[in-house]
Amino acid sequence: MENQFLVDSEYLSKEALEKKHRLETDPSFRRNHMEYLPDMEIIESDVMDQVMTEMQSYDYSKYTAVDVRRALQHERCTIEDLKALLSPAAEPFLEMMAQKARRETSKHFGNTVYLFTPLYIANYCENYCVYCGFNCYNHIHRMKLNREQIRHEMEVIAKSGMEEILLLTGESKSKSDVKYIGEAVKLARKYFRMVGLEVYPMNTEDYAYLHKCGADYVTVFQETYDTEKYETLHLMGHKRVWPYRFHAQERALRGGMRGVAFSALLGLSDFRKDALATALHVYYLQRKYPQAEMSLSCPRLRPIINNDQIKPLDVGERQLCQVLCAYRIFLPYAGITVSSRESADFRNGIVKIAATKVSAGVSTGIGDHESKYSGEKKKKDTGDEQFEIEDARSFDAMYKDMSQEGLQPVLNDYLYV
Ligand code: SF4
Repeated sequence: MENQFLVDSEYLSKEALEKKHRLETDPSFRRNHMEYLPDMEIIESDVMDQVMTEMQSYDYSKYTAVDVRRALQHERCTIEDLKALLSPAAEPFLEMMAQKARRETSKHFGNTVYLFTPLYIANYCENYCVYCGFNCYNHIHRMKLNREQIRHEMEVIAKSGMEEILLLTGESKSKSDVKYIGEAVKLARKYFRMVGLEVYPMNTEDYAYLHKCGADYVTVFQETYDTEKYETLHLMGHKRVWPYRFHAQERALRGGMRGVAFSALLGLSDFRKDALATALHVYYLQRKYPQAEMSLSCPRLRPIINNDQIKPLDVGERQLCQVLCAYRIFLPYAGITVSSRESADFRNGIVKIAATKVSAGVSTGIGDHESKYSGEKKKKDTGDEQFEIEDARSFDAMYKDMSQEGLQPVLNDYLYV
Protein backbone atom coordinates (compact mmCIF):
# COMPACT_ATOMS: atom_id res chain seq x y z
CA MET A 1 0.00 0.00 0.00
CA GLU A 2 1.55 3.31 -1.04
CA ASN A 3 -0.18 5.70 1.31
CA GLN A 4 1.90 5.86 4.51
CA PHE A 5 -1.27 6.08 6.61
CA LEU A 6 -3.25 3.09 5.40
CA VAL A 7 -3.10 -0.21 7.31
CA ASP A 8 -5.20 -3.29 6.76
CA SER A 9 -5.99 -5.71 9.53
CA GLU A 10 -6.57 -9.43 9.25
CA TYR A 11 -9.11 -9.01 12.04
CA LEU A 12 -11.55 -7.04 9.89
CA SER A 13 -14.47 -8.90 8.37
CA LYS A 14 -14.74 -9.08 4.59
CA GLU A 15 -17.57 -6.51 4.64
CA ALA A 16 -15.65 -4.13 6.88
CA LEU A 17 -12.57 -4.41 4.69
CA GLU A 18 -14.62 -3.71 1.57
CA LYS A 19 -16.19 -0.63 3.14
CA LYS A 20 -12.81 0.58 4.36
CA HIS A 21 -11.25 0.24 0.90
CA ARG A 22 -14.17 1.98 -0.73
CA LEU A 23 -13.87 4.88 1.73
CA GLU A 24 -10.17 5.13 0.94
CA THR A 25 -10.45 4.99 -2.81
CA ASP A 26 -13.85 6.35 -3.82
CA PRO A 27 -14.51 9.99 -2.80
CA SER A 28 -18.12 9.75 -4.01
CA PHE A 29 -18.74 7.08 -1.33
CA ARG A 30 -17.83 9.57 1.38
CA ARG A 31 -20.17 12.11 3.01
CA ASN A 32 -19.76 15.81 2.16
CA HIS A 33 -17.28 16.96 4.82
CA MET A 34 -18.58 20.55 4.78
CA GLU A 35 -22.19 19.62 5.52
CA TYR A 36 -23.51 19.54 9.08
CA LEU A 37 -25.30 16.48 10.43
CA PRO A 38 -28.80 17.00 11.85
CA ASP A 39 -27.71 16.82 15.51
CA MET A 40 -24.97 19.43 15.05
CA GLU A 41 -25.61 22.96 16.30
CA ILE A 42 -24.93 25.75 13.82
CA ILE A 43 -23.74 29.05 15.28
CA GLU A 44 -23.48 32.45 13.64
CA SER A 45 -19.84 33.45 13.59
CA ASP A 46 -17.53 35.35 11.30
CA VAL A 47 -14.32 33.83 12.70
CA MET A 48 -14.10 31.02 10.16
CA ASP A 49 -14.33 33.39 7.19
CA GLN A 50 -11.66 35.65 8.65
CA VAL A 51 -9.24 32.79 9.25
CA MET A 52 -9.82 31.05 5.94
CA THR A 53 -9.57 34.22 3.86
CA GLU A 54 -6.15 34.96 5.33
CA MET A 55 -4.96 31.38 5.00
CA GLN A 56 -6.09 30.88 1.44
CA SER A 57 -4.39 34.05 0.23
CA TYR A 58 -1.15 33.30 2.10
CA ASP A 59 1.68 32.94 -0.38
CA TYR A 60 4.72 32.45 1.83
CA SER A 61 7.12 32.37 -1.10
CA LYS A 62 6.71 36.12 -1.64
CA TYR A 63 8.20 37.09 1.75
CA THR A 64 11.85 38.16 1.85
CA ALA A 65 14.57 38.79 4.41
CA VAL A 66 13.53 42.47 4.40
CA ASP A 67 10.00 41.53 5.52
CA VAL A 68 11.38 39.27 8.26
CA ARG A 69 13.77 41.96 9.57
CA ARG A 70 10.92 44.47 9.60
CA ALA A 71 8.69 42.01 11.48
CA LEU A 72 11.37 41.47 14.10
CA GLN A 73 11.80 45.21 14.62
CA HIS A 74 8.12 45.90 15.24
CA GLU A 75 7.00 46.31 18.83
CA ARG A 76 3.66 44.74 17.97
CA CYS A 77 3.51 41.83 15.53
CA THR A 78 0.89 42.34 12.81
CA ILE A 79 -0.74 39.62 10.71
CA GLU A 80 1.61 40.56 7.87
CA ASP A 81 4.56 40.20 10.24
CA LEU A 82 3.32 36.77 11.33
CA LYS A 83 3.15 35.68 7.71
CA ALA A 84 6.74 36.77 7.19
CA LEU A 85 7.90 34.98 10.35
CA LEU A 86 6.31 31.72 9.24
CA SER A 87 7.78 31.89 5.74
CA PRO A 88 10.93 30.09 4.50
CA ALA A 89 12.61 33.52 4.36
CA ALA A 90 12.59 33.56 8.18
CA GLU A 91 14.54 30.31 8.57
CA PRO A 92 17.99 32.01 8.58
CA PHE A 93 16.69 34.35 11.34
CA LEU A 94 15.80 31.60 13.78
CA GLU A 95 18.27 32.79 16.40
CA MET A 96 16.86 36.34 16.32
CA MET A 97 13.31 35.00 16.43
CA ALA A 98 14.19 32.85 19.44
CA GLN A 99 15.68 35.85 21.26
CA LYS A 100 12.58 37.95 20.63
CA ALA A 101 10.29 35.06 21.61
CA ARG A 102 12.27 34.53 24.80
CA ARG A 103 11.88 38.21 25.76
CA GLU A 104 8.11 38.05 25.17
CA THR A 105 7.76 34.83 27.16
CA SER A 106 9.69 36.17 30.09
CA LYS A 107 7.77 39.50 29.99
CA HIS A 108 4.40 37.74 30.29
CA PHE A 109 5.17 34.47 32.11
CA GLY A 110 8.42 35.15 34.02
CA ASN A 111 10.43 31.95 34.35
CA THR A 112 7.44 29.71 35.07
CA VAL A 113 6.54 26.49 33.34
CA TYR A 114 3.21 24.81 33.90
CA LEU A 115 2.97 21.01 34.38
CA PHE A 116 -0.05 18.80 33.70
CA THR A 117 -0.85 15.23 32.78
CA PRO A 118 -3.35 13.67 30.38
CA LEU A 119 -5.59 10.79 31.45
CA TYR A 120 -7.18 8.70 28.72
CA ILE A 121 -10.35 7.12 30.11
CA ALA A 122 -11.52 5.38 26.90
CA ASN A 123 -10.15 4.56 23.47
CA TYR A 124 -13.31 3.72 21.55
CA CYS A 125 -13.67 5.84 18.45
CA GLU A 126 -16.25 6.01 15.66
CA ASN A 127 -14.10 8.03 13.30
CA TYR A 128 -11.72 6.94 10.62
CA CYS A 129 -8.80 9.38 10.82
CA VAL A 130 -6.27 7.41 8.83
CA TYR A 131 -3.22 8.58 10.82
CA CYS A 132 -4.51 7.79 14.34
CA GLY A 133 -4.05 4.59 16.35
CA PHE A 134 -7.59 4.83 17.82
CA ASN A 135 -9.31 4.90 14.41
CA CYS A 136 -12.25 2.53 14.16
CA TYR A 137 -10.52 0.28 11.59
CA ASN A 138 -7.29 -0.17 13.55
CA HIS A 139 -7.10 -3.43 15.43
CA ILE A 140 -6.19 -2.45 19.00
CA HIS A 141 -7.35 -3.45 22.45
CA ARG A 142 -10.30 -1.17 23.22
CA MET A 143 -11.29 -0.21 26.72
CA LYS A 144 -13.38 2.22 28.71
CA LEU A 145 -12.65 2.77 32.39
CA ASN A 146 -15.52 2.46 34.86
CA ARG A 147 -16.03 4.86 37.75
CA GLU A 148 -13.85 2.92 40.16
CA GLN A 149 -11.07 2.53 37.63
CA ILE A 150 -11.16 6.25 36.85
CA ARG A 151 -11.04 7.06 40.56
CA HIS A 152 -8.09 4.71 41.03
CA GLU A 153 -6.15 6.25 38.14
CA MET A 154 -6.83 9.74 39.50
CA GLU A 155 -5.69 8.75 42.99
CA VAL A 156 -2.42 7.42 41.58
CA ILE A 157 -1.83 10.59 39.55
CA ALA A 158 -2.86 12.96 42.37
CA LYS A 159 -0.45 11.21 44.76
CA SER A 160 2.40 12.16 42.45
CA GLY A 161 1.63 15.83 43.19
CA MET A 162 0.00 16.77 39.89
CA GLU A 163 -2.77 19.38 40.20
CA GLU A 164 -4.03 19.65 36.63
CA ILE A 165 -5.50 16.83 34.60
CA LEU A 166 -6.60 16.65 30.99
CA LEU A 167 -9.28 14.00 30.42
CA LEU A 168 -9.36 12.34 27.02
CA THR A 169 -11.55 9.81 25.27
CA GLY A 170 -11.59 8.59 21.71
CA GLU A 171 -14.46 10.20 19.84
CA SER A 172 -17.36 7.80 20.43
CA LYS A 173 -20.61 9.34 21.54
CA SER A 174 -22.16 5.93 22.08
CA LYS A 175 -19.35 4.50 24.25
CA SER A 176 -18.34 7.74 26.00
CA ASP A 177 -21.51 9.83 26.18
CA VAL A 178 -21.66 13.29 27.69
CA LYS A 179 -22.97 11.92 31.00
CA TYR A 180 -20.02 9.50 31.26
CA ILE A 181 -17.59 12.35 30.61
CA GLY A 182 -19.47 14.54 33.12
CA GLU A 183 -19.14 11.90 35.86
CA ALA A 184 -15.41 11.65 35.16
CA VAL A 185 -15.13 15.45 35.43
CA LYS A 186 -16.96 15.45 38.78
CA LEU A 187 -14.51 12.85 40.08
CA ALA A 188 -11.54 14.80 38.72
CA ARG A 189 -12.72 17.91 40.57
CA LYS A 190 -12.17 16.05 43.85
CA TYR A 191 -8.54 15.28 43.08
CA PHE A 192 -7.33 18.17 40.92
CA ARG A 193 -7.55 21.95 40.89
CA MET A 194 -7.77 22.27 37.13
CA VAL A 195 -9.69 19.95 34.78
CA GLY A 196 -9.37 20.07 31.00
CA LEU A 197 -11.18 18.06 28.36
CA GLU A 198 -10.05 16.74 25.03
CA VAL A 199 -13.11 14.88 23.76
CA TYR A 200 -15.33 15.00 20.68
CA PRO A 201 -16.73 18.43 19.70
CA MET A 202 -20.24 18.96 21.04
CA ASN A 203 -23.07 21.47 21.16
CA THR A 204 -23.13 24.51 23.46
CA GLU A 205 -25.56 22.94 25.94
CA ASP A 206 -23.30 19.90 26.39
CA TYR A 207 -20.30 22.15 27.04
CA ALA A 208 -22.43 24.08 29.56
CA TYR A 209 -23.29 20.79 31.31
CA LEU A 210 -19.64 19.72 31.46
CA HIS A 211 -18.62 23.13 32.74
CA LYS A 212 -21.21 22.73 35.51
CA CYS A 213 -19.69 19.35 36.32
CA GLY A 214 -16.36 21.12 36.86
CA ALA A 215 -14.51 21.33 33.54
CA ASP A 216 -12.36 24.44 33.12
CA TYR A 217 -11.23 24.25 29.54
CA VAL A 218 -11.64 22.41 26.27
CA THR A 219 -9.01 21.41 23.73
CA VAL A 220 -9.92 20.62 20.14
CA PHE A 221 -7.35 19.87 17.45
CA GLN A 222 -8.51 21.01 14.04
CA GLU A 223 -5.81 18.69 12.61
CA THR A 224 -5.59 20.67 9.37
CA TYR A 225 -7.26 23.86 8.15
CA ASP A 226 -6.80 22.66 4.58
CA THR A 227 -10.36 21.45 3.99
CA GLU A 228 -9.48 19.47 0.87
CA LYS A 229 -6.70 17.59 2.62
CA TYR A 230 -8.93 17.13 5.67
CA GLU A 231 -11.47 15.42 3.45
CA THR A 232 -8.92 12.80 2.38
CA LEU A 233 -7.75 12.03 5.94
CA HIS A 234 -11.01 11.90 7.91
CA LEU A 235 -13.04 9.42 5.98
CA MET A 236 -15.88 8.58 8.31
CA GLY A 237 -17.74 9.59 11.47
CA HIS A 238 -18.77 12.90 13.07
CA LYS A 239 -15.25 14.21 12.85
CA ARG A 240 -15.53 14.28 9.09
CA VAL A 241 -17.61 17.46 9.36
CA TRP A 242 -14.90 20.13 9.21
CA PRO A 243 -16.85 23.33 10.02
CA TYR A 244 -18.53 21.81 13.09
CA ARG A 245 -15.07 21.07 14.44
CA PHE A 246 -13.84 24.56 13.60
CA HIS A 247 -16.52 26.22 15.75
CA ALA A 248 -16.06 23.88 18.74
CA GLN A 249 -14.00 26.34 20.81
CA GLU A 250 -16.54 29.10 20.28
CA ARG A 251 -19.38 26.82 21.37
CA ALA A 252 -17.32 25.82 24.42
CA LEU A 253 -16.86 29.47 25.39
CA ARG A 254 -20.56 30.15 24.89
CA GLY A 255 -21.18 27.16 27.16
CA GLY A 256 -19.20 28.93 29.89
CA MET A 257 -15.77 27.27 29.65
CA ARG A 258 -13.00 29.46 31.04
CA GLY A 259 -10.49 28.51 28.41
CA VAL A 260 -10.00 26.83 25.06
CA ALA A 261 -7.01 25.33 23.29
CA PHE A 262 -6.22 24.97 19.61
CA SER A 263 -3.93 23.04 17.35
CA ALA A 264 -3.17 21.77 13.91
CA LEU A 265 -1.37 18.44 13.64
CA LEU A 266 1.73 19.62 11.85
CA GLY A 267 2.80 17.41 8.99
CA LEU A 268 -0.67 16.51 7.73
CA SER A 269 -0.75 19.31 5.17
CA ASP A 270 1.23 22.48 4.41
CA PHE A 271 2.50 23.23 7.91
CA ARG A 272 3.15 26.95 7.26
CA LYS A 273 -0.45 27.55 6.24
CA ASP A 274 -1.75 25.38 9.07
CA ALA A 275 0.39 27.27 11.59
CA LEU A 276 -0.91 30.60 10.25
CA ALA A 277 -4.53 29.43 10.48
CA THR A 278 -4.08 28.12 14.03
CA ALA A 279 -2.58 31.40 15.24
CA LEU A 280 -5.31 33.42 13.54
CA HIS A 281 -8.04 31.16 14.94
CA VAL A 282 -6.75 32.09 18.42
CA TYR A 283 -6.32 35.76 17.48
CA TYR A 284 -9.81 36.37 16.09
CA LEU A 285 -11.55 34.40 18.81
CA GLN A 286 -9.57 36.22 21.50
CA ARG A 287 -10.74 39.56 20.09
CA LYS A 288 -14.32 38.33 20.31
CA TYR A 289 -13.96 36.76 23.78
CA PRO A 290 -11.31 38.88 25.53
CA GLN A 291 -11.97 37.24 28.91
CA ALA A 292 -11.18 33.73 27.67
CA GLU A 293 -7.87 31.99 28.35
CA MET A 294 -6.44 30.75 25.09
CA SER A 295 -3.60 28.43 24.36
CA LEU A 296 -2.23 26.52 21.45
CA SER A 297 0.01 23.58 20.88
CA CYS A 298 2.08 22.23 18.06
CA PRO A 299 1.86 18.44 17.82
CA ARG A 300 3.60 16.64 15.00
CA LEU A 301 2.56 13.29 13.57
CA ARG A 302 3.76 10.24 15.50
CA PRO A 303 3.94 6.49 14.70
CA ILE A 304 0.94 4.43 15.88
CA ILE A 305 0.26 0.77 16.73
CA ASN A 306 0.27 -1.20 13.46
CA ASN A 307 1.95 1.62 11.54
CA ASP A 308 5.41 2.82 12.48
CA GLN A 309 5.87 4.54 9.11
CA ILE A 310 3.89 7.64 10.04
CA LYS A 311 6.23 10.64 10.21
CA PRO A 312 5.82 14.44 10.12
CA LEU A 313 7.32 14.65 6.64
CA ASP A 314 8.55 18.21 6.20
CA VAL A 315 8.42 19.52 9.77
CA GLY A 316 11.83 19.06 11.37
CA GLU A 317 12.75 20.49 14.76
CA ARG A 318 14.02 23.72 13.20
CA GLN A 319 10.70 24.30 11.47
CA LEU A 320 8.84 23.43 14.65
CA CYS A 321 10.97 25.91 16.55
CA GLN A 322 10.24 28.57 13.92
CA VAL A 323 6.50 27.99 14.27
CA LEU A 324 6.64 28.20 18.07
CA CYS A 325 8.69 31.40 18.05
CA ALA A 326 6.28 32.95 15.54
CA TYR A 327 3.31 31.95 17.74
CA ARG A 328 4.95 33.54 20.77
CA ILE A 329 5.85 36.79 19.00
CA PHE A 330 2.37 37.15 17.49
CA LEU A 331 0.39 36.00 20.56
CA PRO A 332 2.50 37.09 23.54
CA TYR A 333 -0.22 36.33 26.13
CA ALA A 334 -1.26 32.89 24.87
CA GLY A 335 -0.22 29.68 26.58
CA ILE A 336 1.87 27.35 24.43
CA THR A 337 1.95 23.64 25.20
CA VAL A 338 4.59 21.21 23.98
CA SER A 339 3.55 17.61 24.41
CA SER A 340 5.42 14.38 25.03
CA ARG A 341 5.36 13.74 21.27
CA GLU A 342 8.60 15.77 21.28
CA SER A 343 11.96 14.72 22.72
CA ALA A 344 13.14 15.67 26.21
CA ASP A 345 15.98 17.74 24.71
CA PHE A 346 13.62 19.72 22.50
CA ARG A 347 11.18 20.35 25.35
CA ASN A 348 13.96 21.39 27.75
CA GLY A 349 15.11 23.95 25.21
CA ILE A 350 11.80 25.34 23.99
CA VAL A 351 10.41 26.01 27.49
CA LYS A 352 13.14 28.61 27.86
CA ILE A 353 12.13 30.31 24.62
CA ALA A 354 8.43 30.08 23.81
CA ALA A 355 6.52 27.25 25.50
CA THR A 356 4.76 27.71 28.85
CA LYS A 357 3.30 24.29 29.52
CA VAL A 358 4.52 20.69 29.30
CA SER A 359 2.93 17.34 30.07
CA ALA A 360 4.61 14.83 32.36
CA GLY A 361 3.96 11.27 33.51
CA VAL A 362 2.23 10.67 30.18
CA SER A 363 0.57 7.51 28.97
CA THR A 364 -1.69 7.54 25.92
CA GLY A 365 -3.00 4.09 26.88
CA ILE A 366 -6.03 3.31 29.04
CA GLY A 367 -5.79 2.41 32.72
CA ASP A 368 -2.04 1.97 32.97
CA HIS A 369 -0.97 4.82 35.20
CA GLU A 370 -0.49 2.56 38.20
CA SER A 371 1.99 0.29 36.43
CA LYS A 372 3.61 3.31 34.80
CA TYR A 373 4.02 5.25 38.04
CA SER A 374 5.18 2.23 40.04
CA GLY A 375 7.49 0.96 37.30
CA GLU A 376 5.75 -2.45 37.33
CA LYS A 377 4.98 -4.51 34.25
CA LYS A 378 1.89 -3.30 32.39
CA LYS A 379 -1.30 -5.06 33.57
CA LYS A 380 -3.33 -7.13 31.12
CA ASP A 381 -6.58 -5.16 31.47
CA THR A 382 -5.40 -1.94 29.89
CA GLY A 383 -6.33 -0.35 26.56
CA ASP A 384 -3.82 0.32 23.78
CA GLU A 385 -2.13 3.67 23.13
CA GLN A 386 -3.19 6.39 20.68
CA PHE A 387 0.37 7.02 19.48
CA GLU A 388 3.96 6.53 20.64
CA ILE A 389 5.33 9.17 22.96
CA GLU A 390 8.88 10.47 22.76
CA ASP A 391 9.42 12.00 26.20
CA ALA A 392 8.37 9.54 28.93
CA ARG A 393 9.58 11.53 31.93
CA SER A 394 7.62 11.12 35.17
CA PHE A 395 6.19 14.08 37.07
CA ASP A 396 9.10 13.98 39.56
CA ALA A 397 11.71 13.80 36.81
CA MET A 398 10.09 16.63 34.87
CA TYR A 399 9.79 18.81 38.00
CA LYS A 400 13.46 18.24 38.78
CA ASP A 401 14.62 18.81 35.20
CA MET A 402 12.64 22.03 34.84
CA SER A 403 14.05 23.32 38.11
CA GLN A 404 17.56 22.46 36.96
CA GLU A 405 16.93 24.42 33.78
CA GLY A 406 16.37 27.47 36.01
CA LEU A 407 12.59 27.43 35.62
CA GLN A 408 9.89 27.54 38.26
CA PRO A 409 7.47 24.60 37.79
CA VAL A 410 3.86 25.67 38.44
CA LEU A 411 1.12 23.17 39.21
CA ASN A 412 -1.85 25.51 39.31
CA ASP A 413 -2.40 29.23 38.78
CA TYR A 414 -6.11 29.60 39.43
CA LEU A 415 -8.09 29.64 42.65
CA TYR A 416 -11.86 29.29 42.99
CA VAL A 417 -13.22 31.45 45.84
S1 SF4 B 1 -7.77 11.39 15.98
FE1 SF4 B 1 -9.42 11.36 17.49
S2 SF4 B 1 -11.25 11.13 16.30
FE2 SF4 B 1 -9.58 10.53 14.97
S3 SF4 B 1 -9.42 8.32 15.19
FE3 SF4 B 1 -8.03 9.28 16.67
S4 SF4 B 1 -9.21 9.42 18.56
FE4 SF4 B 1 -10.63 9.06 16.89
